[in-house]
Amino acid sequence: MARNTDPVCKLCRREGMKLYLKGDRCYSPKCAIEKRNYAPGMHGKKGSFRHKESDYALQLREKQKARRIYGVQERQFRRYFRSALRVKGQTGVTLLILLERRLDNVIYRMGLADSRPQARQLVRHGHFLVNGHNHNVPSYLVGIGDVIEVRPASRSNGYFKALADRMGQRTMPEWLEFDETRMSGRVLNQPDRQSVDLPMNEQLIVEYYSR
Ligand code: SF4
Repeated sequence: MARNTDPVCKLCRREGMKLYLKGDRCYSPKCAIEKRNYAPGMHGKKGSFRHKESDYALQLREKQKARRIYGVQERQFRRYFRSALRVKGQTGVTLLILLERRLDNVIYRMGLADSRPQARQLVRHGHFLVNGHNHNVPSYLVGIGDVIEVRPASRSNGYFKALADRMGQRTMPEWLEFDETRMSGRVLNQPDRQSVDLPMNEQLIVEYYSR
């Protein structure tokens, strides 16, 4: 599977905002956005003071921001967009909801990982069961009623043991629930636009693909 191997903090600097790709470090003064909030590269600083960006540039940046937050490659992102087009309603909102339903995002939202990239890795390593079956596909789209649990063999793993102690600190979105004693959670509802707490203008993404 293709994946972006650029240093992830550069992605945040390019988008001019925190994309929270590195877990705890993103909340610390070591975060690159705290120290160097301008685009990477030799013209990065100059670029920050550039004149007004074109409509196309704004649409492109918004699309890239969404792709990078959810860790999706261009081809797959286009597929999500085409699926969203087929659904009645606001295409941009449907697109965000599809992204939000990805298994790696759900693992992150449940507080089982510090970042989406870490969640993706945990899924790939087969640490979770979905409805009782092994599942190692991060792009799997969860549905209402799906039960997601930490695989019994993984529960004794140091990572999950330590995680159980700090899970009380997380904020759980209303469409999900997780019981840390049973290491098992459930999808209660479909996420809506309010539950996607990301500063994103999805309409710009729709305009980008509608050119
Ligand atoms: Fe982005 Fe996190 Fe790096 Fe900060 S520490 S620049 S939020 S990935």
